[in-house]
Amino acid sequence: MTHDHHDDTAASLQYDASAVSATMRTAPALIDYSPAPETARTPVSESCGLFINGTFVAPRSRRRFETINPATEERLSLIADGGAADVDAAVSAARAALRRWSRTRPEERAKYLFRLARRIQERARELAVLETMDGGKPIRESRDVDIPLVAQHFFHHAGWCDKLRYAFAGADPRPVGVCGQIIPWNFPLLMAAWKLAPALACGNTCVLKPAETTSLTALRLAEILQEIELPPGVVNIVTGAGETGRMLVEHPDVDKIAFTGSTEVGKRIAAACAGTRKRLTLELGGKSANIIFEDAAIDQAIEGIVQGIWFNQGHVCCAGSRLLVQESIADDVAVRLRHRLASLRVGDPLDKNTDVGAINSAAQLATIRRYLEIGRAEGARLEEIPGPPLPERGYWCRPCFFTDVDPSHTIAREEIFGPVLTILTFRTPSEAVERANNTPYGLAAGVWSDKGARIFDVARKLEAGVVWCNTYNQFDAASPFGGYKESGFGREGGMAGLRAYVTL
Ligand code: NAP
Ligand code: MG
Repeated sequence: MTHDHHDDTAASLQYDASAVSATMRTAPALIDYSPAPETARTPVSESCGLFINGTFVAPRSRRRFETINPATEERLSLIADGGAADVDAAVSAARAALRRWSRTRPEERAKYLFRLARRIQERARELAVLETMDGGKPIRESRDVDIPLVAQHFFHHAGWCDKLRYAFAGADPRPVGVCGQIIPWNFPLLMAAWKLAPALACGNTCVLKPAETTSLTALRLAEILQEIELPPGVVNIVTGAGETGRMLVEHPDVDKIAFTGSTEVGKRIAAACAGTRKRLTLELGGKSANIIFEDAAIDQAIEGIVQGIWFNQGHVCCAGSRLLVQESIADDVAVRLRHRLASLRVGDPLDKNTDVGAINSAAQLATIRRYLEIGRAEGARLEEIPGPPLPERGYWCRPCFFTDVDPSHTIAREEIFGPVLTILTFRTPSEAVERANNTPYGLAAGVWSDKGARIFDVARKLEAGVVWCNTYNQFDAASPFGGYKESGFGREGGMAGLRAYVTL
């Protein structure tokens, strides 16, 4: 290539932000796809029991509550509301099973986990449909992200069972005991896998408490545990509300609590465990910064922003909910985002074309709406992009973003946990770091730049458990995940995640 030729090519590829923005000032017409509904249906029984000691049992509490499909508001099933006697039965079953399970040869434990992972793959479609029906997330995500990661997590930990000595060189890792595990509703089966897989690999027994609105896939997992003939009592599942979780936390015969959920509840759990022998790990909320420098590959960054905040309706603890964009490109980014937003399809989560599904519950929708009001009242500007009408029933919130945001605004500080992005600006890399760290949270962050040196410099200074560089919301069973500051402590995934489940 001659020097001249090279220059020509460079000139023709030169990016003219103003020209691109001009074409983007008009919203694209949403291409009218035909509906592409997921046709697989999965039967759901009218009422569900608790999974204790290898069998499904009616709750001793005699209480049940509805779980609904948030996209239709129709009842899917009645879920058992575990009471004190139920939690006690589950903990006793886990205690009784511990003796044998903890002494089961590691290669044998691995066989169960491999079998479980394979069975999840075989039943993946059913699990994905059920996850979408109960929680409202788009089928594309449950099918392509949640369930494959669930299987990966069990495969990964199956491999650790007989290699724990190598993970903790020079030590003799032993199980912690009976683990009480409490999970949220945003990634129901994935959070169950994050908790159960390392615990079982290390020889512990478990009592799992799913979130109130999304118990169905955990209970389906219990059926799979029966299929693979996991010894009774090794995993017990007690459904119920927050009160059931509290009883599990306070049960005197639990050795370890692993909690994923809100910072508010996490603090209460930390207080309850203080002064007891219980070990504790907490994976809590976040207000993660996604930092876009002016030299970033802009179209990729736009996709990263979309993936960062509008994935799973923004029901993501590590969502890039605070966009920090360099001032020189802030207007251009806002124009492009508006343009991109207009092409996102909001609606029926079981339609394979849907990008943004239903908000998980009426309560969460009310929380999001409250934050939209607060944002406007405090003087930020809400950018809402109209789209085709939303279904009449169900809980919906169109993806949107705030500009003209001051760092002191409530929407810049508090976790909204919905499809609402807050955009702030910065001028220099040090200001970006300072603003990103100016939060009580520290779960994740994103950095977008063409300069490797800048990425490493900024990433090193960010107080966040995960920093994604030129990408966002990527997960892998081998990669540890967890927070700094009020986002919690302890790690899940990979070798680091095993530490919470062994005594050395
Ligand atoms: P949540 O209200 O804290 O609930 C989490 C779980 O704890 C649910 O199973 C809940 O039961 C239970 N629970 C409620 N009160 C309890 C108590 N006093 N003692 C013991 N357990 C109790 O959180 P959420 O609204 O379900 O989930 C959203 C939050 O989770 C967000 O803040 C998000 O950032 C965080 N999250 C963090 C991560 C992470 O890895 N760091 C991952 C996902 C989500 P009920 O469902 O019956 O209330
Ligand atoms: Mg539900």
